[in-house]
Amino acid sequence: MTEKKWVYLFDEVEQAEKYAGSWDGVRGLLGGKGANLAEMTRVGVPVPPGFTITTEACNAFQKNRQFPEGMWDQVLAALKITEKKAGKQFGDPTNPLLVSCRSGAKFSMPGMMDTVLNIGMNDETAKGMIKLTNNPRFVNDSYRRLVHMLGTVVLGIDDEPFEDALKQYKAQKGYKVDTEMTAEDWATITETYKAIVKKEKGFDFPQDPLKQLEFAIQAVFDSWNSKRAIDYRRRENIPDDLGTAVNIQTMVFGNMGNDSGTGVAFTRDPQTGENVMFGEYLLNAQGEDVVAGIRNTSKITGLKDEIPDAYKAFMEITRKLEDHYKEMQDVEFTIERGKLWMLQTRNGKRSAKAAIKIAYDMVNEGFISKEEAIMRVAPAQVDQMLHPQFSNKAVDEAKAQKRFFAKGVNASPGAAVGRIYFDADTAEKKHKDEGQDVIMVRPFTKPDDVHGMLAAKGILTSEGGATSHAAVVARQFGVPCIVGASVIQIDMEKREMRSNGLVVKEGEWISLDGSTGEVYIGQLELTTPDVTQQKELMALLSWADEVSRLQVWANADYPKDARRAREYGAKGIGLCRTEHMFFETTRLPHVQQMIMNAEATQKKLNNLEALEGALKAGRLEGRALKDEDRAALEAEIADGKKALAEDPGAKAYFGALDFILPLQRSDFYGLFEAMNGLPVIIRLIDPPLHEFLPSMESLLTEVATMRAKGETEGLAEKEDLLAVVESLHESNPMMGLRGIRLGIVYPDIMKMQVRAIFEAACDAKKNGIDPHPEVMIPLTGHVNELKLVQPTLVQIAKDVMAEKGVEVSYKFGTMIEIPRAAVTAAEIAEYAEFFSFGTNDLTQMTFGYSRDDAERNFLVTYVEKGVLPKNPFQQLDREGVGRLMKSAIEEGRKVRPNLEVGICGEHGGDPSSIEWCHLIGNNYVSCSPFRVPLARLAAAQAALNNK
Ligand code: PEP
Ligand code: MG
Repeated sequence: MTEKKWVYLFDEVEQAEKYAGSWDGVRGLLGGKGANLAEMTRVGVPVPPGFTITTEACNAFQKNRQFPEGMWDQVLAALKITEKKAGKQFGDPTNPLLVSCRSGAKFSMPGMMDTVLNIGMNDETAKGMIKLTNNPRFVNDSYRRLVHMLGTVVLGIDDEPFEDALKQYKAQKGYKVDTEMTAEDWATITETYKAIVKKEKGFDFPQDPLKQLEFAIQAVFDSWNSKRAIDYRRRENIPDDLGTAVNIQTMVFGNMGNDSGTGVAFTRDPQTGENVMFGEYLLNAQGEDVVAGIRNTSKITGLKDEIPDAYKAFMEITRKLEDHYKEMQDVEFTIERGKLWMLQTRNGKRSAKAAIKIAYDMVNEGFISKEEAIMRVAPAQVDQMLHPQFSNKAVDEAKAQKRFFAKGVNASPGAAVGRIYFDADTAEKKHKDEGQDVIMVRPFTKPDDVHGMLAAKGILTSEGGATSHAAVVARQFGVPCIVGASVIQIDMEKREMRSNGLVVKEGEWISLDGSTGEVYIGQLELTTPDVTQQKELMALLSWADEVSRLQVWANADYPKDARRAREYGAKGIGLCRTEHMFFETTRLPHVQQMIMNAEATQKKLNNLEALEGALKAGRLEGRALKDEDRAALEAEIADGKKALAEDPGAKAYFGALDFILPLQRSDFYGLFEAMNGLPVIIRLIDPPLHEFLPSMESLLTEVATMRAKGETEGLAEKEDLLAVVESLHESNPMMGLRGIRLGIVYPDIMKMQVRAIFEAACDAKKNGIDPHPEVMIPLTGHVNELKLVQPTLVQIAKDVMAEKGVEVSYKFGTMIEIPRAAVTAAEIAEYAEFFSFGTNDLTQMTFGYSRDDAERNFLVTYVEKGVLPKNPFQQLDREGVGRLMKSAIEEGRKVRPNLEVGICGEHGGDPSSIEWCHLIGNNYVSCSPFRVPLARLAAAQAALNNK
């Protein structure tokens, strides 16, 4: 039996492919970084020789913290070959090989796991290297870096003792920057660092290079399960069982003089997406100096003059890499004595704007297909393009009021307003516990700060560049961010920051614009950008529409929302919540009047109806009517009608309905106008009536206070109102008198609405508009409800069209919000011409979780403890609620094959839920206008992913 292969040299990519079966498999086995190093080697890019230890080895190690059998021997064998390729030997004082040890999982987790550089240095090799390079400063600097990194990363010593020792030393010498340190200075620091290791750990810094390597590999394996790595995986949905690979690679040095250097670059601008090389480098420096943002870097174009040959090679190689991967690359490189080495390449992280532009450009450049472009942009990135910005007016005002505070590097677009906090824990706490909008302010960020960054509306740092940790992480999460605002002085002790003669204390408000890099004090007003002006996004979305099967409609109540929805590409209105208009201040008193008088009037109407029914049937109380009975009944009916016509309550009731009707008519007219030619689903009144009245508690207090004070004016009205509120009070209003139940108990309200809809539609049609009203009856649970309500409403529609002499095409349908409705969909489809899944209520009723309280009370805990994978009010529960939907569609279409099906709950704007709707055969999803663009992309991705 051949031994299990745990280690692959960079030039063994074919073997890895054979074993893993696919390139995705290679990425899983060797990690993204390892696979790319191997791939770069194959393409002929100059990569320092080395090898990768597989993720399988990492997973095997996790079981009992031991390298799997055979792994270490394979490491030693690979090391031998690497020594040969590099022409150097590990631990050989006359010509030592140094290696780096880096993590690399299948999916990039920037900065989340560990790295150790300069492995192989010890007292002896350091001496040898000085002889070889004649550069004691570089050697001593490299050695102290190893002691520091091994001390912190591998041996778990805090950063502070090392940093403090260096700071103290520099202060003592009167140095400001590291470049002032001499060879002797670094030698002294190395000794100090070794003493720190001894003091903290009780043993000497390990001199054996193989021991160093073994420790480093273990540390990288262990870092897969560090808290920050686990947090990151949760957030990014990366499975825990993938493991990380470890890359052992020959060190090359950018700090060997002024013909050496190191840098990072993106092959396109990761902020705007423009097709220009974007990067930074430092001469005579080592990799982490650039990434940490500690020294000020130069723009990549500067390299052209400083090391022209290396620059030329760099530009050629990066072009080759982009051509090869057909993706924007994020590369790390080092120049050692004029020779360029590529250390890493990967698909670059980018802002939402850049993602869209790059995808669009690459289609036009012939690199990728439209379908590929659609798949390269995340729906959430489209969402970010709608992120708020400050209006020019707000900015001008703030400037005039001298509230301009500072300007830094615009690292991640979008505007944010929040209270500042100076550390990640406080920022997270203030956001979580108090729901505050927070802005995290730091000199610079480290991976440990990620939880604060995630909780923040915006991030501001005084140090670091466009590729620093803060910038990269913020761009990825779409959090507006400014870095390197070096004019700001942060005083961590006083918990305040100063700039431009202004002071902002912790907890005070600032406004920052990650697109311009500007910071203002106070709260600037936010506005929403005009998506239609964004050429690339519009093109991408139109490509998306070409491949999707699902349409995207919008939930919109007002014509202005409908117009926005249409601008954003909505193909209809999937939900107009009519009752929202009832809350307008000019209408609410009339709505309240309607409610106050509904019950008493309805009782009288019901009475009359019963008498008329008896007359018609010729029977009363079980016996046939005699002539005198008939006459008495007729008289009773006539009296009743007369009394009703004069009854103040009934007058108020019908008066209110008459008042509301033309207002609703004009609401609907506006919607038909905005959606000319497209369907508009109008839902009839849905919420329990008490929602339109003051709360019982406040009324009780008011009445009691008035009585106690002996105030009589207005008391009677208040008491009447209280009586109505008390009579409408329900223990479970969400499961009470609402939706279609209102249509049965108080039919006149829905009748008025249907009349308003059809009057508006007919008027619109007369004016050259093409209206497509669809009347939606909410909360049906039993077909008999529809049987009772719908024919009367349809008759009103017909009557109105006859009165107006106009025909419009229309539909009557229902929401499916109650599990019983889903289960009996076949019966319901006999009446309903369309279904719209109200998944807010359907989720509430299926789980039995109150949608108003569950999140606050237990749902967060449920998700944290893994009882539920996701909050089912945000992402559709496919196995439960989703299954009900699927069977409802199947059953419904058996009866009515052309049944139109949509969704209008919040899930209509969630990509995973949209995919489910695609899979089960919805015709459309409907979501808020702002989410229409992302939903269009998600619908296309659903189609492409499930071809
Ligand atoms: C729903 O229940 O999903 C729905 C859209 O109705 P509402 O949220 O208004 O109850
Ligand atoms: Mg509902």
